[in-house]
Amino acid sequence: MSRLDRFIARMQAQRALLNQVCSELNTDVALPGPFVELGLGNARTYDHVRERLTGRRIIVFDRSSDPKHGVIPPPADFCVGDIRETVRTYVEAGGAPAAVVHADLGDGSAAYNAELQSWLPDTCCLLLQPKGLVLSSTQLHDRRLRQLDVTADAKAGFYFSYRFD
Ligand code: SAM
Repeated sequence: MSRLDRFIARMQAQRALLNQVCSELNTDVALPGPFVELGLGNARTYDHVRERLTGRRIIVFDRSSDPKHGVIPPPADFCVGDIRETVRTYVEAGGAPAAVVHADLGDGSAAYNAELQSWLPDTCCLLLQPKGLVLSSTQLHDRRLRQLDVTADAKAGFYFSYRFD
């Protein structure tokens, strides 16, 4: 599979899973709490989710925002800094437990993906409410996160979905 094909498959899987989770959240009142976006980046996924979610707060975490894409979350919903610190601050300040955490933090390098394994599963568990969901661009290994099958529109192995049990 070429690098281009792999990129397209990852984006298709990302979109399919985000669409599925947004439509579940729009109908599932039993799963309260915000949608947490870890990694604003170019705001493509943030913009996609905010178009689809109705009546649900979206809280974004990133080191910084790049004003050139013109999409910046409202200050009250944007936690700026290193996620390992800002998530802890959010939780300690009594921030609402998340219904969904979407983690898209990779920089394309195997080294950073490996580093993410050492703290991202804990960070997701810290943020989530029981039965909450994680969508992740990197595979997460943690016994508290049960891997779910991806939808028919997403090729397996390109994006990952978990339930916090
Ligand atoms: N989902 C975004 C989009 O659709 O445009 C792309 C996100 S981009 C792949 C990854 C982002 O994660 C970058 O903006 C980077 O600054 C952020 N990031 C990675 N590790 C981080 C950390 N430890 N703390 C804060 N931000 C981090």
